[in-house]
Amino acid sequence: MKTEGKAEGLQAVQASAAQEQAGTAWRIDEAGWGVGIARSDCPNCDARPDGTEINLLVIHNISLPPQVYGGRFVEDLFANRLDCDAHPYFDQLRGLKVSAHFFIRRDGSVVQFVPTTQRAWHAGLSNFKGRERCNDFSIGIELEGSDVDDYCDAQYTTLASLATAIAERHPISDITGHENIAPGRKTDPGPHFDWVRFHHDFEGLFSRVREVTFRS
Ligand SMILES: [Zn+2]
Repeated sequence: MKTEGKAEGLQAVQASAAQEQAGTAWRIDEAGWGVGIARSDCPNCDARPDGTEINLLVIHNISLPPQVYGGRFVEDLFANRLDCDAHPYFDQLRGLKVSAHFFIRRDGSVVQFVPTTQRAWHAGLSNFKGRERCNDFSIGIELEGSDVDDYCDAQYTTLASLATAIAERHPISDITGHENIAPGRKTDPGPHFDWVRFHHDFEGLFSRVREVTFRS
């Protein structure tokens, strides 16, 4: 009975930590790391081209295997240590080197892989308003999810806080989805992502130092 009590206590602490993290006004420091945000190993990044202004935020979804939530596989993939024999779906991921700056889990907790000042490898072949290689000038946020499931309330809460912190640190002028910069090739974050809700939440937090356009 005592053990049960402890486990429940631990869950409560973890839940409140996630909530607290989600409700906090975050800040991205000079080096591009979120203050108080957990970090995870990721070698898949490099320098942005000299003088590049970081002005695009790209929203993605990911789950490994698709629609299975809560495991360590996304962190493993971004660290190049995914056991590709662990699931048949992973076979196609062998040798793949990808990353994103942030990953927001279903419970709203967030982990950072790459400092925002560095280039993460999330967009691939892409084009935004005639500019190719979106990785050069964008920041990528992965939501744990899929094209067929609704996202969680806690994820919207965290996403609004995080996007605000990013837009206050970098001159973000546009926020869009992966599907819009790689049409025909990518479909995320997909039809279940509520752009109106995200836009509304963001507007409620952002200090409006500049216009930020949402392209859903
Ligand atoms: Zn994507």
